[in-house]
Amino acid sequence: MTKPADLTPRPLNPAPPAPEFPWPNGKKSALFIGFDVDAETAWMGNRPENADRMVTTSHGGYDARVGTAKILTLLNDLGLRATFFIPGWTVEAHTAMCESIVAAGHEIGHHGYLHKCPDPTKPDEARDEIDRGMAALRARLGVTPVGYRAPSGENFAALLAYLQEQGLRYSSSFRDDIRPYRHRLPDGRPGPVEIPVNYAFDDWNFGMTSRVDPRPIFGRDAILPIWDEEFQGMHDWGGVTTMVLHPQVSGRPMRWRILRDFLAGVAARDDVWIATGAEITAHFEACETSARVAGAERDTG
Ligand SMILES: [Zn+2]
Repeated sequence: MTKPADLTPRPLNPAPPAPEFPWPNGKKSALFIGFDVDAETAWMGNRPENADRMVTTSHGGYDARVGTAKILTLLNDLGLRATFFIPGWTVEAHTAMCESIVAAGHEIGHHGYLHKCPDPTKPDEARDEIDRGMAALRARLGVTPVGYRAPSGENFAALLAYLQEQGLRYSSSFRDDIRPYRHRLPDGRPGPVEIPVNYAFDDWNFGMTSRVDPRPIFGRDAILPIWDEEFQGMHDWGGVTTMVLHPQVSGRPMRWRILRDFLAGVAARDDVWIATGAEITAHFEACETSARVAGAERDTG
């Protein structure tokens, strides 16, 4: 028996809107390049019946065979650092691939264990995903992540509080702002920093199709105008452009070329701060500490 939903009218995210604060070195906006290295978990975390369907899960197998290495080459060629959110299962199944990401100097973030979509009706399962994912990143990679991106992009209040308890300083999942802000926990205490994502930069929407989830895919003539226009608008507004990319999508030949051309265009500018999630979070925290966050309702309790 599930309890009825609380439909009381109120802002469903109690966090205040993002405060004003400057980007470092006079930069006008930020670009956060985030990859979700789901591998096979994207195909069987929420659908375990697919675990024995070798062709269905082979979309995810592309990460370790081809996609991630191609993405690392691209970032190296452009001299860019990114954040790779990796489920614990992926770390255990494809350890060498994940080690290559660490060796290239990129940030590793938490992305659950089996990529189960956080379900507010199953809080124990959601906590278990955090615990097992954290353990895998520590044991196999020697990494203790500070950032979390929710698998399948879902989150809930009790999970935000648990992230905070486990030392995760930022989340990058919400779609409700254009600049980083600090979550507010159900008891009123400050929660993790949120680096909100821009769904127009989720490559899965444009570039993934499969027999079990068929949908149209789009090429350069559709994607680059959307990305360029959205990026320029975000830049003009002084926000952060947060990308949600997947090696099994953007590590494909056509998509790799589109991503290369977009990133090269941004990297050629001198007014954009291209930073990892950890760097953006550290900057936000430093601004809070030095009270450069204007108008923030900081809760010191
Ligand atoms: Zn994912």
